Amino acid sequence: MRERLVFIADKLYKNHNLALGEYAELIDGYDAEMEELLAKRARTVREEIYGKDVFIRGLIEISNYCKNDCFYCGIRRSNKACERYRLSREEILSCCAEGYTLGFRTFVMQGGEDAFYTDDFLCDLIKEMKATYPDCAVTLSLGERGKESFGRLFEAGADRYLLRHETADEEHYASLHPAELTLANRLQALRDLKEIGFQTGCGFMVGSPGQTTETLAKDLKWIEEFQPAMCGIGPFIPHHATQFAQDKAGDVGLTCYLLSIIRLIKPNILLPATTALATLDEKGCEKGILAGVNVVMPNLSPMSAKQKYELYDNKAYGGSEAAKNVEELKARMDAIGYRVVTDRGDVRG
Ligand code: SAH
Repeated sequence: MRERLVFIADKLYKNHNLALGEYAELIDGYDAEMEELLAKRARTVREEIYGKDVFIRGLIEISNYCKNDCFYCGIRRSNKACERYRLSREEILSCCAEGYTLGFRTFVMQGGEDAFYTDDFLCDLIKEMKATYPDCAVTLSLGERGKESFGRLFEAGADRYLLRHETADEEHYASLHPAELTLANRLQALRDLKEIGFQTGCGFMVGSPGQTTETLAKDLKWIEEFQPAMCGIGPFIPHHATQFAQDKAGDVGLTCYLLSIIRLIKPNILLPATTALATLDEKGCEKGILAGVNVVMPNLSPMSAKQKYELYDNKAYGGSEAAKNVEELKARMDAIGYRVVTDRGDVRG
């Protein structure tokens, strides 16, 4: 049994691909020993390409208005108790100014699907950001917008786009989303983004309701085939105002195990330690780094926005999660032998 698992792990380490059934075996074989074995290989592979560098991104949560109704999400449109906000152009630009001074060279604008942010508005804003900070990358995480819109945002200068696929299993996708959202559309949007030229990121929650070994194996196989530039995975955390309020949160150790597997699937992938991981475990960020992660995304949003951008309960936003505390983050990374760099942090190799 152990021999078989080590054989599969070696194969992944050498070839960066596995059969669907082998991914399933690896997932089922998860235990502390396998976690450490894969983490070690993941660190080796990561250090060959990125050394000990940790890239930071300044996360700006621009709006919690959303036209969608994803069953797991705290800012879904049917959550009437959610206090809505949106940031103005000036507020977003002042987040960038603060972030630049702190050493951030990537700004990530994330939000619900909010029609207030038209293509014209965003294109103007992106152009201004790129003109003011020509040495910075702009990442967008604003949901599905259609190929033409994606194209305009890219033309305006946006560099990267994060759009988690959430799950690569059709039935599972349908159990997490209302009928108007489909896996087919989500995957098409991801292919469009890549074709347009974005550094494109997918990803999923670990331990989302209904997730199984089979759905996770499909996620890994899909990532292997899609070859994204980035991949965001974090534990599912219940939100009190959703139908999954009573469900269990995802497991931190399994999340780290999957991060290591993803590093081995695509050695140069930009792989972040997510806020959800840091929310469930105060050492979540370090655990992620030691599992092969090379990106951290501290929060640059104004305090009131941070609190209202509540995708799940008890979201971490103080301490090292706050961009202004980047010195604390640097010290934490130093303590485990890694170093935060002032760099756009593009894909290498
Ligand atoms: N509207 C944008 C941004 C979504 S929020 C978009 O659709 O891409 C970013 C991610 O947060 C989502 O893709 C989802 O995977 C994650 N998320 C939402 N609710 C969550 C929860 N309850 N627990 C953990 N992660 C959650």
